[in-house]
Amino acid sequence: MKQYQLSFNSAEEAGKEFEGLLGQTGHAEKDRLLFQVFSGSMDKDAVNRIAEALEAVFPGAHYVGCSSCGNIIHGDLSPDIYAVTCTEFEDPTARIETKQYHLGIENVDSVIREVAHFANENLWVKAIMLYTTVWETSMSSLCSELDKVRSDVQILGGGAFNEALNSSSSFVLSDGGRAADHSIVFAFIGGDALSIRTRYISGWKPLGKEMEITKAKGNILQEIEGISAFETYRRYLKIENDDTFLYNTLEFPYLIRYHGIGILRHPQECLKDGSLVMASDVERAGKIRLAYGDPVTIMENVFQNVAQIRKEEPDVIAIFSCAGRKAFWGDAEIGNETRAFQTIAPSSGFYTLSEFLRTGEYVNQHNLTLVIASMKEELEGKKTKRRQAEEKDVNARRVSTVERLANFIEEATRELEAANEQLSDMNQKLSDMAVTDGMTRLYNRTEIQRRIEESDDQTDRATDSLIMIDIDNFKKINDTFGHKEGDAVICTLANLMKERACEVSGASVGRWGGEEFMILLPACDTRKALGIAEKIRKEFSAIAFPQCGCRTISLGVTQRQAGESADSLVLRVDRALYEAKNTGKNRCVCL
Ligand code: GH3
Ligand code: MG
Ligand code: MG
Repeated sequence: MKQYQLSFNSAEEAGKEFEGLLGQTGHAEKDRLLFQVFSGSMDKDAVNRIAEALEAVFPGAHYVGCSSCGNIIHGDLSPDIYAVTCTEFEDPTARIETKQYHLGIENVDSVIREVAHFANENLWVKAIMLYTTVWETSMSSLCSELDKVRSDVQILGGGAFNEALNSSSSFVLSDGGRAADHSIVFAFIGGDALSIRTRYISGWKPLGKEMEITKAKGNILQEIEGISAFETYRRYLKIENDDTFLYNTLEFPYLIRYHGIGILRHPQECLKDGSLVMASDVERAGKIRLAYGDPVTIMENVFQNVAQIRKEEPDVIAIFSCAGRKAFWGDAEIGNETRAFQTIAPSSGFYTLSEFLRTGEYVNQHNLTLVIASMKEELEGKKTKRRQAEEKDVNARRVSTVERLANFIEEATRELEAANEQLSDMNQKLSDMAVTDGMTRLYNRTEIQRRIEESDDQTDRATDSLIMIDIDNFKKINDTFGHKEGDAVICTLANLMKERACEVSGASVGRWGGEEFMILLPACDTRKALGIAEKIRKEFSAIAFPQCGCRTISLGVTQRQAGESADSLVLRVDRALYEAKNTGKNRCVCL
């Protein structure tokens, strides 16, 4: 695979350049040439004249292209308005097809279905390059429809550049149709020898805690954790909504997670209500983080990837880089991050409105990202001339102060979150302890009394019933078998009461003192309360303890009367228990 790269400023110059190119590629069949046309001008007529010039010299040539925010030629930002690359496939089985469609929200499904069908039917297709005009709200439906293309097909491309948000000046073009707005073009490429590896490179790193998107629609990010999205910039980064807003937020875009990978989103505009118009969809993200981009970290990240790509020994490298990166670095420096690719293989592409790449099964729309395809033909007998370059030792990478500070914030945030979690666990334990009796795990005296008093004066709780329980002849157990045995008897009774009280929803069981207990049964009449009391009495008396054998309990049962105070209720249940004791124990008395 070879690539020829041309750049010029007019159709006249284009004609001459194409003539010159014909001399070099003259032997190639048109089906083995793929032209790509990138236009830094939004003038559709002018680019159409260039397309005509191309067709005049290379009749029937396959070409795709679009409007750009600048072109990458020989791995650098080209000073010229137009760039045309010609990729020549050497493998006789190589194939190229192009398609162009009008595209809008209304027909995206049917267009992409047709494209997916074509790729799924034609097994020679190994990759799809696409250039599309980007509608302002969201390209999510385009991406999710493209997911249906068989998974071994690489999908990558870029959004045609628009001069201004909401303008429809952006266009795409191909040999299947001249420059057109609201459109998409595809180049399907394949061949037995073709090998394409793709990757995305950002260099921006996450910063601080993950936050929840609480309100968003399409690409409008309204609220994060209940406050306006702009407020996160002001609060954490002191970024104001003034002339510097867009540049400052390029340094600190947002990072979202889609399909398991981190994807950058940067604001294009801050609205009056503090909502942010993002470069692409954020609605489905759920969670969001701030990210930071500092020059040293970004360059180190690019160089690490360059080292990886060098090992792949590509013939040609395609670069789709975000116009936002160009704004971040400025025209004078943007070439620094792409020139290294040219030391590996001819590298070309353009600055986009967003970058598209399939990672795994899913096609994602990126922002602020470099989408790179390293392409080659693995032909028999082809000598791979490994370009030896002094690669920097990627393990000994430079770490910027900003990255160290960001790492510090990351670690400090993690520690703080862990400490918070521990604290809220402990708080929970403390508040549990404050209401619980340590030995029986029942409510303590204060809590059960509070619960009985809480229902005071609530006429709708007039049907609450109360059971008071005392173990018969308990002193004897202590005196004869020791306190340990006494404790075991108390705990066994506590568990039994809890189990039986469950029959009434909202029941509370508490330790009133020593071996005396209270069961509060909300909305429960005396008949049911007495039933539960009897069950507890019977079941308890059937338990044989290892040393003290079978024991009994006495129970008082009563029901609250409308408007009755807690004191009066407790007094009556106490009287009922007293009567049970006085009339022979091991019984329930209801008053
Ligand atoms: P009655 O049948 O009339 O209730 O006789 P009783 O022996 O059970 O008398 P009373 O209810 O007055 O006895 C309470 C005894 O319970 C007194 C105290 O030593 C003992 N006690 C109180 N709390 C505990 C405890 O947590 N563990 C043990 N083992 N004994 C306790
Ligand atoms: Mg007792
Ligand atoms: Mg007692």
